[in-house]
Amino acid sequence: MSPYPFEAPASEALFERARAIVPGGVNSPVRAFRAVGGTPRFMARGRGPYVYDVDGREYVDLVCSWGPMILGHAHPDVLAAVHEAADAGFSFGTPTENELLLAEAIVARVDPVEKVRLVSSGTEATMSAIRLARGFTGRSKVVKFAGHYHGHVDALLAAAGSGVATFALPDTPGVTGASAADTLVLPYNDVAALEAVFAAHGDDIACVITEAAAGNMGVVPPGPGFTAALRRVTKAHGALLVSDEVMTGFRVSAAGWFGHEGPTADGAPDLFTFGKVMGGGFPAAAFGGRADVMSHLAPEGPVYQAGTLSGNPVATAAGLATLTGCTPELYARLEAAAATISQAASAALGAEGVPHVVQSAGSMFSVFFTADGGPAAVRDYDDARKQDLPAFTAFFHSMLADGVYLPPSAFEAWFLSGAHDETAVGRILDALPAAAKAAAAASSATSGEARP
Ligand code: PLP
Repeated sequence: MSPYPFEAPASEALFERARAIVPGGVNSPVRAFRAVGGTPRFMARGRGPYVYDVDGREYVDLVCSWGPMILGHAHPDVLAAVHEAADAGFSFGTPTENELLLAEAIVARVDPVEKVRLVSSGTEATMSAIRLARGFTGRSKVVKFAGHYHGHVDALLAAAGSGVATFALPDTPGVTGASAADTLVLPYNDVAALEAVFAAHGDDIACVITEAAAGNMGVVPPGPGFTAALRRVTKAHGALLVSDEVMTGFRVSAAGWFGHEGPTADGAPDLFTFGKVMGGGFPAAAFGGRADVMSHLAPEGPVYQAGTLSGNPVATAAGLATLTGCTPELYARLEAAAATISQAASAALGAEGVPHVVQSAGSMFSVFFTADGGPAAVRDYDDARKQDLPAFTAFFHSMLADGVYLPPSAFEAWFLSGAHDETAVGRILDALPAAAKAAAAASSATSGEARP
């Protein structure tokens, strides 16, 4: 008998077929449910705050395609924009007005972004930003933080969060020593470590790349003064600061995390990377920043970067319609719903004696199922890893059985959309007490049993 409360025969059948010809049966690892067990749900459609699987079950969606669906699924304005763009043809490999409109929308929202280049994925954006930083400075080394994920760029797949954290892979085969050798990995929120690495290698460091507020080991915002320290130290050593806003960009405010923190006393980051929300569910991403740095890109400058589908007219139409829908009212609503859900989750877990920490960055939040005696606040990857994974797994499956689709990993942010109305939020709140009970039953902290 399955240990999980709901069978999903249609998903199971598709998963079996998929595993025969697709590695692990999925096209991105965390979708496979390996961290929580059971059968990944194959989704057939989505509308507003709901997704529907191939077995015909409806779920309130707290994944939102890992961030992009900020207006909810199949929002009518986005749908209309996509239809109009698709009617005019899909891709020309020439400049189009749509890509210019999207570039203008980005530049208008994020003050330090003077020039922007569109690409098709967040991975491409960070990969290109790193290349540009190296080309601009003539230096080779890159500093990143443990638990930060910047896509599957070779040089940045050292101590990356989310999928890699979930599977506890310290690194990945296939990344050569040479491509990782120029990557320096530091603990997050540790100014002394930052200063020490610059004291030792300052002249060789092209850039520091940081998630503007980390969301790939669960949500871990920068501590007070940390972003300012990043800017101060990089500037003092002539290195660039790259703020990865692929997840936070246009989600936590119109200007992303930068909109929350603003420039520091030493200025703003030099480069930003974007993705997710700016594509509205289609493959569109970007990197941008200081005009003098961006002008080093081909064809204006010598640093090569290109893409057959970059600035795709349908993807950019979806992105623009999505950004247009991201009004101040939308952000206020997302924050209010996030507060309601995170407080209710904390209350339900507290009532069952399940140790936990809830952390947020704007409307992005996550629940850390802290192992007994774990940290009171999660500041870095070491803290984030001290989780009671069986407790999370039990919580996840109870929510799933009650029709709430959470990220299938304890190391991911929970995402909301403007379509999450009172009914959808109410269904999440209704599911929490049983899930907290299930977590308590599985938790070593409350059961007193030692976990293997
Ligand atoms: N950077 C951050 C902060 C991300 O969260 C992600 C994806 O989750 C990426 C980069 C990579 O984006 P993509 O999956 O579009 O390649």
